[in-house]
Parts: sequence; C-alpha cells; structure tokens
Amino acid sequence: MPKPLRIAVVGAGPVGVEAALYAKACGFAVALYDRGPVGEHVRRWGHARMFTPFGLNCTALGLAEVRREKAGRSLPADGDFVTGRQLVDAYLTPLAESEALLEALHLEEAVLQVGRATSVKKSEVAEQMPFRVLVRDAKGAERVDAADVVLDCTGTLNTPHRLGDGGIPAVGELAAKGQIAWGLEDILGERRAHYAGKSVVLVGDGYSAATTICALAELAEGANDTWVFWLSRGPRGAPLPRLPNDPLKERDRLAVRANSLATRCDGNLEFHPQTVLDEVTTHGPDKGFRVAGRSNGVAVSWEVERVIANVGYRADTRLSDGLRPDEPGYFVLGAKSRGPDFLLREGYEQIRKVFAQLTGNARLDLYAKKAA
Ligand SMILES: Cc1cc2nc3c(=O)[nH]c(=O)nc-3n(C[C@H](O)[C@H](O)[C@H](O)COP(=O)(O)OP(=O)(O)OC[C@H]3O[C@@H](n4cnc5c(N)ncnc54)[C@H](O)[C@@H]3O)c2cc1C
Repeated sequence: MPKPLRIAVVGAGPVGVEAALYAKACGFAVALYDRGPVGEHVRRWGHARMFTPFGLNCTALGLAEVRREKAGRSLPADGDFVTGRQLVDAYLTPLAESEALLEALHLEEAVLQVGRATSVKKSEVAEQMPFRVLVRDAKGAERVDAADVVLDCTGTLNTPHRLGDGGIPAVGELAAKGQIAWGLEDILGERRAHYAGKSVVLVGDGYSAATTICALAELAEGANDTWVFWLSRGPRGAPLPRLPNDPLKERDRLAVRANSLATRCDGNLEFHPQTVLDEVTTHGPDKGFRVAGRSNGVAVSWEVERVIANVGYRADTRLSDGLRPDEPGYFVLGAKSRGPDFLLREGYEQIRKVFAQLTGNARLDLYAKKAA
C-alpha cells in the first residue's frame, strides 16, 4: 500500500483545526501546529460576540466528532450568536483535543519557515521532494519535520496594517507600537478602567472599529470624561458600508449603530473622515500620545491618552518566502488567503476544494454527510 500523504497544517485556528480533521477523515497523516494554544487568535477577541450564528462557524464533520467524543456535551444551537471565547471553549478546543486529532496536535510549537528539500537526481525522472518544516518548540528547541503538503492557516492577526499615509508606519509609530492597542479591546470588561474617562484616538472604519466605537460610546455614558476622536480615511458620511439585505443581521446592526454615532457625533465623540496620519508619537509608557496628520488636506493634531488602531491586517509571507509563489502542494487557507471580511464558512469551502483536489475526487464533500 502506498504511504498516505503527510499533511502539515500550520495554525490551529478554526480553519486549521477543521482542515486537520478533514485531512484525517480522508486518511492522510496529519501534524497540526500552533505557536500558542488552540484558537490563539480568536482568544484575543474572545469577549466579542460573533456576527455569524454558530451554525455557520462549525461544520457537520466537526460537530459529529465533538458529539462522538463526548455524548451529551452541550453545544450551542445553530442559531446562537456565541462569543469568540465560547467558540473556542465549546467547539474548537474539544475538536482539536478529540481522539481524531489529539496525536496530531503540536501546541506551543511555532513553524518558522517552510522550504522544499533539494532533489538529488537519481534518474532522469524529476522526483517531487518533500517540504522541510522548521519548527521551534516552547523550550526553544528547533527541528525539521517533513511534509508532502502544507496548509498555511496562520491567519493575519499578528500583522496589522500600518497607520501612516501610503501604508507605511507614521513617524514615531514603530517606537510607539507596544503602547498602541491593535486589536479589539475588551472596553466594557477587563479594559474598562484603562479607557474610562480617557481621551482616545480610534483609527479605522471596518467592523472592528465599529465594535470599538460602540463600546466606547457606551462607556462614555457612565464615564463622562471619556472623549473619542474617530479617524477614518474614507469619505464624509456613513463610514460603514451596508450591504443591501445583508443576511448577517448582527453585522448590519453593528454598521447602523456605528454609522449613527459617526454622523450624529454624540456619545462624547468626534468623527473625522478623510483623515490620514503622518505622526503617532508616544510621550512614554502611560504618558499619552501626539497624533498628527491631515484632515481633508488641512493639518490636524491631537494630544490623547490612548490610541486604538483597528486598521485591518495584512498577510505575513515570511513563512513561505523560500518557496515559489505558486508552489505545488502549498495552500494558503482561511483569513490569510483573503482580505478583510473573510467568513469562516468560506474557509470551510476552501478546505473542501483542496481535499477534492488532493484526493483526485472532485465530488468529495465530507461536509455533506449528516452529523451523527
Ligand atoms: C474581531 C473579529 C471578529 C470576527 N468575527 C467573525 C464572525 O462572526 N464570523 C466569521 O465567519 N468570521 C469572523 N471573523 C473573521 C475570521 O473568521 C476570523 O479571523 C478567524 O479567526 C479566521 O480563522 P483562521 O483559522 O483562518 O485564522 P486564525 O483564527 O487567525 O488562526 C491562525 C492560527 O495560526 C497560529 N499561527 C500563526 N502563525 C503561526 C506559526 N508561524 N506557527 C504556528 N502557528 C501559527 C495562530 O496562533 C492562530 O491560532 C472575525 C475576525 C475578527 C478579527
């Protein structure tokens, strides 16, 4: 019997865990790596409620495995809107630690880079050499694992876009990096005291910025000295686009509320559209920032205590920069494969397509099977 393909899945986020499960169900040998715990990136915004219902965040294959593992385990209902943390605790972690995946799971192991082994030509027929996967464990020990296929499911949360005009860092931004909040802060929870009564610059105009502005407005109702300068590169008017008949009602509600805050400028906030940044300088740890740029071409600046950057993320390509751009057998899946507004259900469809290709069975669809 031929040896099964060895599949290295890098990243145990929602897409990586599902991809590893799918690979296992197809009979491949699987290694699933994460540099942190399961769902490390989702945990970072774990307090936030997802705008897609649970039924769109899981798969029939995954549900069947979680149920099989522990009959009677209470899982959210398809229509429930769970938080990121609930997704990790109720679904992602039990799945990654299920019998199907436990042996494949390598947590606290970062993949540093992936390359292709050099072919030593023994005959005229060129041989496809395996990938070399450089791994560093939690103790700092490094080793090279071999794989025939690599699924890069590493997401983008570690590489936010830059704040400065033209996509480069603003003056002072690199030095201030550690003091700027780059993700979804738990403003109404554990970070309340950090923001209550403070002056805040919020940069960005996507759904994360919308979530942040709504939380800051709610915070300001009880902590009146809170003052927010919301900066967007976009045109005047409502910053969040609304999709006609958006099927994701929670996402639409968020856009409506954020747009209303921007256009009415209530809740202790000022909205500054058409604003680009030239400078974000820190005055020292917890000593505030100077933020300067141009609003509709006119110079503007603010002295504030906090800066929150919700400016989206970019793909970090260092993992594969030793490979050709379209290296056969190297697939980028999940949030890293797409721009903003990526949805998990798109990632699950990517998985289905990759394994249809790898098995040579175009009709293969393990998600079509009914959950047990
Ligand atoms: C605030 C927020 C809310 C969202 N809400 C929704 C929603 O409601 N519905 C929806 O469908 N989508 C939502 N998304 C979009 C998207 O589904 C998520 O970003 C999702 O986490 C993407 O899953 P992923 O598996 O592709 O990547 P990630 O969840 O980013 O997982 C990547 C994993 O790779 C690991 N990793 C990275 N580099 C390495 C390395 N070198 N070696 C080993 N491991 C590594 C990380 O630790 C991480 O665990 C949301 C996104 C954000 C930011």
